[in-house]
Amino acid sequence: MLAKLGETAAFCAQGRSDLVLPGLWVRGLGEIGVPISAQAAEQLLDLSRVILKADTRTEPVPPRDGVREATIDCDCADCKALGAFVRDPVALQHRFRRWLHQRAHLEQIIIKHRCDVSTRTVKGTSPHILVCTKNYASFQARLARYRADIKVLHKPARM
Ligand SMILES: [Zn+2]
Repeated sequence: MLAKLGETAAFCAQGRSDLVLPGLWVRGLGEIGVPISAQAAEQLLDLSRVILKADTRTEPVPPRDGVREATIDCDCADCKALGAFVRDPVALQHRFRRWLHQRAHLEQIIIKHRCDVSTRTVKGTSPHILVCTKNYASFQARLARYRADIKVLHKPARM
């Protein structure tokens, strides 16, 4: 594999690669890109192993309480309430009885800041209610990445 990498590998500096270096995205052999030498490929693989070992030193653990990490950059009253809810160690659900544009704003902020909050709209009142429920999305993503990295780390090198 190293010899082939040295001749034809193409790299793109975005995304991740399970094969070479976390942070680099191997676009596939033979595609247009930056060719690297076998020595550089060897160094990338060595660096990749170092990074993977560091990244997999400890298995991610789920949040111990209701606190979720999110920095919300909007100062409106609803976002302040959302921020207080996200940082609250006890509250797992919060209800916003708001008009459509207000609910849409909150949903956009939740997505933008990856608040680990799921939303659903409960109709039957006017305005409707946006029910926000904390989830484990960030933890699950970290755990999936950890497991994938462990798999790669223990996978025998292919030639
Ligand atoms: Zn806001």
